[in-house]
Amino acid sequence: MTVDGNLCIGCELCSEICPDVFEMGDDGQAHAVHPEKCDDLPCCNGAAESCPVEAIKIE
Ligand code: SF4
Repeated sequence: MTVDGNLCIGCELCSEICPDVFEMGDDGQAHAVHPEKCDDLPCCNGAAESCPVEAIKIE
């Protein structure tokens, strides 16, 4: 689970959908602060599917 900083436009959608995994940084972009939680949290996939610029990659 990674956020591509070259693509993220800082819309905050992923941090709203899955706050246990994604947080907005001071740089105005989302960061996957707890990617390991994606094993148990279906909201990770929801966030990835909802990202308008497809910046969230599930590995
Ligand atoms: S949903 Fe996508 S564009 Fe929006 S903050 Fe998250 S990673 Fe960035």
